[in-house]
Amino acid sequence: MEPLYVIGALFLLVLAVLWFFLPFAIFGMQPKMQKILDEAKQTNHLLVEIKGLLQIAAAPECKACGKPFNPTAAVCPHCGCAR
Ligand SMILES: [Zn+2]
Repeated sequence: MEPLYVIGALFLLVLAVLWFFLPFAIFGMQPKMQKILDEAKQTNHLLVEIKGLLQIAAAPECKACGKPFNPTAAVCPHCGCAR
C-alpha cells in the first residue's frame, strides 16, 4: 500500500508542475501562430496574383481584334464578333 501512495504523490507532483507551465506554453505560442497567419495571408495574396497572371496568359485571342477574351463567351466583348 505504501509504494502506491508514493507513486500517486509523484504523479500528482508532475501533474502540478505541468499544470503550472501550461499557460506559459500556450501564450508563448501565440506570436508564432500570428506569424504563421501573416505568412499564409501573404501567400494567398501572391497566389491570387499568380492566378490572375495565368488567366491573362492562358486566355485565347480574338481572331478579329487580337484581344484576349473568355473562351466560354459566345462573342468577343471587345469587337462583338462571333467566335
Ligand atoms: Zn474581338
